[in-house]
Amino acid sequence: MTEKKFCITTPIYYVNDVPHIGHAYTTIAADVVARFKRLEGYQVFFLTGTDEHGQKVQEAAQKLNVTPQQHVDKLHQRFKELWVKFDISNSDFIRTTEERHKTLVCSILQTLFDKDEIYRDSYEGWYCTPCERFWTEKDLQDGNCPECRRKVEKIKEHNYFFRMGKYQDWLLEKIKSDPHFILPVSRRNEVLGFLENPLEDLCISRPKSRLPWGIPLPFDEDYVTYVWFDALINYISIHGSLDDIRASGYWPADHNMVGKDILTTHAVYWSTMLKAIGLEPPKNIFAHGWWTVNGQKMSKSLHNVVEPNQLADQFGVDVIRYFLLREVPFGSDGDFSHKALIGRLNSDLANNLGNLLNRTVNMIKKYFDGTLPEPATTGEEDNALQNTAREVIDEVRKLYDELAFNKILQKIWELVDTTNQYIDKTGPWNLAKTDEGKERLKTVMYNAAESLRVLGVLLFPFMPKSCASLMLQLGVDKTIEEQGMKSLENWGNLTSGTKTQKAKQLFPRIEDKQAVKILAELETKNDDKKDESGQITIEDFMKVDLRTGKILEAEKVKKSKKLIQLKVDIGTETRQILAGIAESYEPESLIGRTVIIVANLKPAKLMGIESQGMVLAANNDGTILLAGFDDEPGQGIQVR
Ligand SMILES: [Zn+2]
Repeated sequence: MTEKKFCITTPIYYVNDVPHIGHAYTTIAADVVARFKRLEGYQVFFLTGTDEHGQKVQEAAQKLNVTPQQHVDKLHQRFKELWVKFDISNSDFIRTTEERHKTLVCSILQTLFDKDEIYRDSYEGWYCTPCERFWTEKDLQDGNCPECRRKVEKIKEHNYFFRMGKYQDWLLEKIKSDPHFILPVSRRNEVLGFLENPLEDLCISRPKSRLPWGIPLPFDEDYVTYVWFDALINYISIHGSLDDIRASGYWPADHNMVGKDILTTHAVYWSTMLKAIGLEPPKNIFAHGWWTVNGQKMSKSLHNVVEPNQLADQFGVDVIRYFLLREVPFGSDGDFSHKALIGRLNSDLANNLGNLLNRTVNMIKKYFDGTLPEPATTGEEDNALQNTAREVIDEVRKLYDELAFNKILQKIWELVDTTNQYIDKTGPWNLAKTDEGKERLKTVMYNAAESLRVLGVLLFPFMPKSCASLMLQLGVDKTIEEQGMKSLENWGNLTSGTKTQKAKQLFPRIEDKQAVKILAELETKNDDKKDESGQITIEDFMKVDLRTGKILEAEKVKKSKKLIQLKVDIGTETRQILAGIAESYEPESLIGRTVIIVANLKPAKLMGIESQGMVLAANNDGTILLAGFDDEPGQGIQVR
């Protein structure tokens, strides 16, 4: 028998981003599917990673005075560590700066160039630097970038283009004929809408002079690869060459999970790229929604970014995993609130599931000295319980095809509720009073425990640690992976005579008083953050050594459009300083001028030249104005 293989991917996260619940959400969702498929007996390849090229990384590294590589080597760890904390069972972690990735990107570029799928052309367009994207005239909104609303620059340059446009008809046909390809349906319709307009070719290069931090084009060393063209290939570069990918059995992926903001790049760029390479598009691209926080968009400026590390420390990893997937349908937008989180923890987890386990294990202890009894006399309640279990198992399997996590959990809770009702209806505390009742009680306790075992297997993908603990309490020594979904095919997998363990609360309740306290603390923490980011003390300001300096020499830095190299007399010494002002000032006009210098700035190298300070200037959308004085103050004077 050939192995059943299954492949699921998250997007690779932009290494410069601070990990927030949005990242955790996608990754947890993919992890749940991966774990479930493993329980179904599949060989699963589950991939996540980090996107490490592009302008923002380069700029951030420059500011910190480290190389971009050093910068990403450090930053990507935040994601790796977070996934360990959240029990993410990824098979590998791809970074786009790794050799294995760069090798395949270059090989694909060369192949497409040789096949004339990539060509060189001149290009004029409106460029948005923060978004690293060109826009056409008609894309612009009030002359600004349609995505971030910032100013755009008109740039004309030679570049390389991928013949994406010629695949438009193929792509339309693919989306229309395969209803499972892009989900949910509302998002699929958006992509179809996008494809109503002519599909243009895709610019896949950036001149190295403007952006050196990227994968060099194998056929023209003056250019690097456009970040998206580079990043999308991560989904396959992990397997090696194109032949290796075909042989791996893991392509096409069963699900490429993405956020709704990057659906078009995946549905359109990625699918057509694969078509040109000669590989199948993924079987499914699923776009999920975004999280708001207490009804507001998450943003750094609002100080409401929900930090997953903190959440996990406060409430426990499994509670967060459960909440994120239970609270909203996958595919819709959701709202995060700590109040709702505490509500779900108390009702679903502590009261319903946790209490069911607790009382079952305690009663086995009380009535049978902690030994799981052999079922004896049966009643009609038993059949009803078993039928519910059977129906829930079947339904859950089906719902995984739609990635309907919230419905899966709702369904599983039907079994939680039914089992609690089963105990209430049969009334073990009454049965224990008579000899006849005690016979019946054996069956009741066995069935309650078996039902909990079924729940443990079904819930394991969502809450792996808690379910492992549940199994231990029931005295099951096989791991849940060993039991698998096949252990649910027949009722009665638990072995009578097994010793159960001491009952332990899986999900301690958060009492009202405590909840009020937690919510108040979170409020204060957010207020503290506001102070930290907004205001500094006079002591903080005094740490900056600002002084006047006279420019003695000024010349343009070769190969740089922006930089001027200055020699500045700051009274005690002459400093060599680089300033990005060449687009606004002629070097000659600067000589003799008095400027304000940050004199205690750590020296930094720009284009191989050391800069020993910084000149203060205002940047009004690219027009630079040096800060100065009404009168001549002299050199080396402190500025306050
Ligand atoms: Zn923009």
